[in-house]
Amino acid sequence: MTHPELRECFGCGLFQLVPSLGPDMRADCVRCGTGLRRTRRDPLNRCLALSAAALVLFAVVWTAMLMQVSTAGIVHDSTLASGPLELVRFGLWPLALVVVFTTALAPFAKHAGMLYVLIGLRTRRPLPRLGRVFLFSRRMGLWAMLEVLMLGVFVAYTKLGDLVHVEVGAAVMALGALTIVALWADTALDPDAVWEAIERRGQTHAPMPEDRPLVFHPGMVACEACGLVGEHDTDCLRCGSALHPRKPDSLNRTWAMIFAAAILYIPANAYPVLTVVQAGAGQPSTIIDGIEELLASHMYPLAILVFFASVLVPIFKLAGLAIMLTVLVPMVYVGWNAYGESVSRIEAATSDTKGQNQPGPAESAPVAAPSPATTQQASQDATKEPPSLYQRLQDEATKLTQKLRERSVG
Ligand SMILES: [Zn+2]
Ligand SMILES: [Zn+2]
Repeated sequence: MTHPELRECFGCGLFQLVPSLGPDMRADCVRCGTGLRRTRRDPLNRCLALSAAALVLFAVVWTAMLMQVSTAGIVHDSTLASGPLELVRFGLWPLALVVVFTTALAPFAKHAGMLYVLIGLRTRRPLPRLGRVFLFSRRMGLWAMLEVLMLGVFVAYTKLGDLVHVEVGAAVMALGALTIVALWADTALDPDAVWEAIERRGQTHAPMPEDRPLVFHPGMVACEACGLVGEHDTDCLRCGSALHPRKPDSLNRTWAMIFAAAILYIPANAYPVLTVVQAGAGQPSTIIDGIEELLASHMYPLAILVFFASVLVPIFKLAGLAIMLTVLVPMVYVGWNAYGESVSRIEAATSDTKGQNQPGPAESAPVAAPSPATTQQASQDATKEPPSLYQRLQDEATKLTQKLRERSVG
C-alpha cells in the first residue's frame, strides 16, 4: 500500500489528494482524467529483469549481422553500425550523430541507468547517486527511438528486396524483441515506487520532511521530474530539479517550434529521401513516391504505417497544437476559472459559515487563482440572481483579453 499524498495533475494543474493505493491500482484526476498514479505489482523487480533483458538484446542488435545482401555473386554482410559509418563516409556526419544518439546512446543510457538504479536499491549498501542516475535515465528515455529504427529496417528491407537478394540476420529479430521488451519495461515501471525506494535508502537531494502536506496552499507546485509537491522557486527536495509554477515561457516556445516544424515539413515531403540507381538508371523518390512504391508492391500495412507516421502524424500534431494554443488555451483558462467560481458559489449557497467565498484547494489550483476582484464580485453575485454560464464565460473572456492587452502594453 502507498501512503496518501498530495499531487498536482500534470494534465490540468489541479491539486488533489491521492489516497492509499494497493498494487495494480490507478488514481485519475477528478477534473480531466489524466493519470495521477498507477501502481504495479512488484514494480522494481519486474523492471529490473526487463531492463537486463533489454541490455542483452541491445548487445545482439548492435553486434550481430543485420542483413546479407547478395547481387551478381557478390555477398555483403552489414551490421547496424555500418549505417552511420556509411553516412560519415558520405560526409553526412551530423545525420550519423543523430542516428547514433537516438538509436544507440539514448536507449543504452536509459536501460543501463535503470539497471544501475534498480540493482543499487537492492544492494546492502546502496550505490551512490541513485536519484541523479534515475533522472538521467528517464530523460534519455525521451530520446530513445528504437521503433523508428525498426520501421527504417523494414523499409530498407522491402526497398532493397526488389533489387538484390536480401537475407535477414539475427540483429533484426533481436531488434523486434528489443522494441517489445523496451515497451514492456516502460509499462512495468512505477516511477513513484522507485522514488519512494530512493527516499527509503536516504538518497534524496535534501533531507525529506517527516510529514508531508496533504492540503493545498498557494505557492505549491509539483516537481515535473518526480511529482513531489514543494514550494515554487526552490529545488525539489527529492530529486533536486528546479520547481516552476509553469514551464518557463512555454507558449512562446511552443509557437516557435510549431513554425519551425511547419517550415521543415515542406522540404521533408517535397524533396527526395533517396535515389536508387540500378543499371545506370534511376530517379530520386520522395516519401510519397516511396509509399506509392510500397502500394504497388502490395505491402499495404507497411505503406499505411509509413503514411501515418511520416505524413499524417506530423500534420495532426502541428494542427492540434496550433488549435490548442489559439482557441483552447484561452477557453480552458476561462472555463476553469468559471468552474472554480461556480464551485465556490455552490459552496457559498450551501454553507452558512462566514468564510464562504474563500477558495478551497480545488478552486485555487487552476491556471490562475481568482483575483481579489473576481472573488469580491462573486460574493456580490451570491446575493443576486446568478448570471448564466454563457454570460460568465463572456465576462471572463473580456477580462482575460483586457489583462493580456495590459501585459502587452506594459
Ligand atoms: Zn487534471
Ligand atoms: Zn523532484
